[in-house]
Amino acid sequence: MRKLCAGNWKMNELRREAADLAAALAARAKTEAAPCDLVVCPPATALAAVAAALAGSVIALGAQDCHAADKGAHTGDISAPMLKDAGCRFVILGHSERRADHGESDALVRAKCEAARRAGLAVILCVGETLGEREAGRTLEIVGRQLAQSCPEGIPPAELAIAYEPIWAIGTGRTPTVTQVEEVHTHIRGALAPKMALPAEVRILYGGSVKPDNAAALMRARNVDGALVGGASLVADDFWAIARACG
Ligand code: PEP
Repeated sequence: MRKLCAGNWKMNELRREAADLAAALAARAKTEAAPCDLVVCPPATALAAVAAALAGSVIALGAQDCHAADKGAHTGDISAPMLKDAGCRFVILGHSERRADHGESDALVRAKCEAARRAGLAVILCVGETLGEREAGRTLEIVGRQLAQSCPEGIPPAELAIAYEPIWAIGTGRTPTVTQVEEVHTHIRGALAPKMALPAEVRILYGGSVKPDNAAALMRARNVDGALVGGASLVADDFWAIARACG
């Protein structure tokens, strides 16, 4: 299957910087064939500027979160239909930073996934264990529970990607071994089976300190169908190098 390389820009880049970064990536995607499917997820304030910079590009636009309701009295929140209206094709949901900073439960993440699907957005659903959970040998249990409780049934495989992001690998420069990644991704594949007819067609991304120098080894691993990239997605050359490793 064609791999997916997604950039999570987190709370970085003002509109001008975001537009410049998107324009640099769009220019690369025009001169060299895009090595895989590509999506960038800027902060909400930069969605319009990035949408304009990506006009006509194969690079898709994504958001970093949405509310579980379609509209209403939710000051400061953004709904999935609003993201769709802003030009988004994808939305990241259940990122560990949202689970930690905003106390998001699996049930809430599931409701957000359902809202995203109602709006026609493809979901990048994040799961992953803490260092303590890994050291206690609970990784598969934790990831399996997150998936069981936060992933709705019946999402078409092309509209869903699962991102395995060990929390201890995010922004730390540490990564699991290829064997550890394969073990978790294979477990995720199995855990998707009760959720849908074609679990083999869901892309399972690895995320957590993916860099140009480790991407090739990670992307060659079994059941790894792409990457969710944080820090390195803010540098056009680095993101492109990772995309090439996905291709
Ligand atoms: C992320 O937060 O989604 C992520 C993968 O971050 P980083 O690549 O910086 O570890």
